[in-house]
Amino acid sequence: MTSTSQQYPEINPPPRTLLGPGPSMVDPRVLKAMATPLVGHLDPYFIELMNHTQQLLRYVFETENPLTIPVSGTGSAAMEASVANMVEPGDKVLVCANGYFGHRLADMAERYGGDVQIIVRPWGDVFSPEEVSAALKARPAQVVAIVQAETSTGALQPVDEIAKIVHEAGALLIVDAVTSLGGVPVRVDAIGIDVCYSGSQKCLSCPPGIGPLTLSERAVQKLTTRSSKVRNWYLDLGEVRKYWGSERTYHHTAPISANYALYEGLRIIAEEGLEARWERHRRNAELLWNGLEALGIELHVPLEHRLPTLTTPRVPEGVDEAQVRRHLLDHYNIEISGGLGELKGKVWRIGLMGYSSRRENVLLLLAALEETLTQFRK
Ligand SMILES: *Cc1c(COP(=O)(O)O)cnc(C)c1O
Repeated sequence: MTSTSQQYPEINPPPRTLLGPGPSMVDPRVLKAMATPLVGHLDPYFIELMNHTQQLLRYVFETENPLTIPVSGTGSAAMEASVANMVEPGDKVLVCANGYFGHRLADMAERYGGDVQIIVRPWGDVFSPEEVSAALKARPAQVVAIVQAETSTGALQPVDEIAKIVHEAGALLIVDAVTSLGGVPVRVDAIGIDVCYSGSQKCLSCPPGIGPLTLSERAVQKLTTRSSKVRNWYLDLGEVRKYWGSERTYHHTAPISANYALYEGLRIIAEEGLEARWERHRRNAELLWNGLEALGIELHVPLEHRLPTLTTPRVPEGVDEAQVRRHLLDHYNIEISGGLGELKGKVWRIGLMGYSSRRENVLLLLAALEETLTQFRK
């Protein structure tokens, strides 16, 4: 009989360099934090760690919002929490969709009974404040949702002007910062974002599994004056906040190790400093952009709206994009990703997020891509 260890080998994953749209690479300090012993989810030690995590999250979101917490679940759970808590059945919701995740927001808002209007832009474009303004004039809404960093397109959506317009129209603004938080400025309070959510596995460089979010006073007001229950028990922030607030009542068992990871990941960000971190992401992205252009590869998004944390080079004519990705994985242990939706088969998606955003990774990828393309270009 074969032994269990032969049949089911010990986990020993290949040493990948993760340069896709997530998960990004994790600092060994975070892995170490995850391997430390558990305490109970109401242990005084854990409660102190929760308090520190909230303080660090406020620093990273650049907010004073008291209700700033991680929800248990990936970025999509934080997205779902934002939508479920802000959208009541019958609420008019405007969703600006210029990529995959904008459409996911619209889908969720519909599922929670929102009366959803979607405005669209081609994938890779961004919305102008005028477009949002015109849409709200034509049909007022209670909630507006937009993605700041569209991971499916590589476009960075400016939200400051849009926030003003949304507030003038008396609506709340939900911003998806999953691929921006910790990589490019988000500035929740300065811009006046009402609900901002993110995920652990992108620029925060922790394993997937925890989704930070923050709610402005206006958003908390909406939460506490709802006329109906939040239609999602697990993500009802009115309940979850009792565990994170002074009451400390049990709601669900916090994923202890995932919280350890987030705490350590946030500590690393605070040590580096937000400004220095944004600068590093920018510098390494520019190195990548220049290198790709030197290889004769076009970039899908014009420079002015290009996202430093996720780049979408166009696949050169006559190249099988999947074959190139497979070669990079098999021969260089590098993961990059293909396009989604409208951009499927047309672009690659290269992430330089958090711990993955390193000069040596960019240079390795450029060299590997040059060699690979020489082989596969017809
Ligand atoms: C990755 C991502 C999400 C979803 O996060 P998961 O961790 O995959 O659940 C949502 N929005 C954007 C913009 C993303 O890039």
